Amino acid sequence: MNAYLASVIENVKTKHANEPEFVQTVEEVLTSLEPVIDQHPEYEKVDLLNRMVEPERMFTFRVCWMADDGTWHTNTGWRCQFNGAIGPYKGGLRFQPNVYPGIIKFLGFEQTFKNSLTGLPIGGGKGGSDFDPAGKSDSEIMRFCQSFMQALYRYIGPDVDVPAGDMGVGAREIGYLYGEYRRLKGAFENGVLTGKGFSYGGSLIRPEATGYGAVYYLENVLKHEGEDIAGKTIACAGFGNVTWGICKKAAQLGAKVVTLSGPDGYIYDPDGVTTKEKIDYLVEMRSSGRNKVKDYADKFGVEFHPGEKPWGVKVDICMPSAMQNDVHMEQAKQIAANGVKYYIEVANMPTTNDALKFLMEQPGVIVAPSKAVNAGGVATSALEMAQNSERLVWTEEEVDKQLHQIMNTIYQMSVDAAEKYGLGYNLVAGANIAGFQRVADAMMAQGIF
Ligand code: GLU
Repeated sequence: MNAYLASVIENVKTKHANEPEFVQTVEEVLTSLEPVIDQHPEYEKVDLLNRMVEPERMFTFRVCWMADDGTWHTNTGWRCQFNGAIGPYKGGLRFQPNVYPGIIKFLGFEQTFKNSLTGLPIGGGKGGSDFDPAGKSDSEIMRFCQSFMQALYRYIGPDVDVPAGDMGVGAREIGYLYGEYRRLKGAFENGVLTGKGFSYGGSLIRPEATGYGAVYYLENVLKHEGEDIAGKTIACAGFGNVTWGICKKAAQLGAKVVTLSGPDGYIYDPDGVTTKEKIDYLVEMRSSGRNKVKDYADKFGVEFHPGEKPWGVKVDICMPSAMQNDVHMEQAKQIAANGVKYYIEVANMPTTNDALKFLMEQPGVIVAPSKAVNAGGVATSALEMAQNSERLVWTEEEVDKQLHQIMNTIYQMSVDAAEKYGLGYNLVAGANIAGFQRVADAMMAQGIF
């Protein structure tokens, strides 16, 4: 391996030994940049890679809140402003008990490349808290969000850093966060957050955007193989906002999502999550806060497999859309054995590095990486920011058209970047290279930073 590249990966391994998710993503991304680094010795001269794996800034803050029963609680909040070379830091907030700096950093690093791929002026950031929203009342969520924003508001802004939602943070949380920001700033700066409700500056299509974008990307892949999405069966994971958007768009195009999963297991619905009643029920399941996918099986009388993942089901397309490291070697082998041709990552880093490498090596399998496939969400967030700064509202058709175009461009840029460096049809390396290129150019132009 290229000596400079190897030394940077080694540095990260040593320095972040306690943050395996961050090491994993750095290793995956940097490894695929090898042909670029080989051809561009100028990057080593300015130590570009060590600068890229070091967040520009990351901070920790205390978040205290009071439960309904009067007890006081303390959580930790983080915001990582990873790379601002091409635009204000942009990326979601995740509220989940397993959140710690390693998760925030891996997400911030991925976000930098993903946001670059969108072609829009957004840098990479991520944040969150180890707060567990499960079973909390609405007023507890509100007080937590208010405290969180009290700690964060000085360090964000429409031209500085623009948080959004991620796991555990949806439209409700964004509403409470924005309300507190507005109160503290005394100004209607709604471009400071995205994923807002429509009434105060949210963009139409933003709720659907990640799922829709993933399906638009998938259509490009299928077209390359001379296939059509109509009639295809899809295995999805999770039942959150992203999976909901995939179900909705897939159904419109005549495909069907046949599995959903949750912490309790997975469901198999051979007829597909295709009717309005079923698709709407996902929203209900999410807002119930029960976090159980079995509810779907109970309601619609389909199979429920407790404690299992859906990757053993025979389908045309797998779209892991739940969380990081959902697909390990064991599941990857099952997927390959089932003859699945399309492995389309959706959640951030849903595949362990060895499983990803294994799937990419299978002759019949096409692998698409999450940082390209799920970029429609953040891209539409950037469209929300554009509408907020113009003080305009775009129609659903306009936003959807732009989203569709962005996804086609991301796909094409990835294909071209891999081709350019002699890697053939390699969507994973192509996305990393294309995402890297724009950030690298901007960092080179801006000098030592
Ligand atoms: N959390 C989402 C992501 O991973 C959305 C970020 C955003 O809209 O800023 O890209």
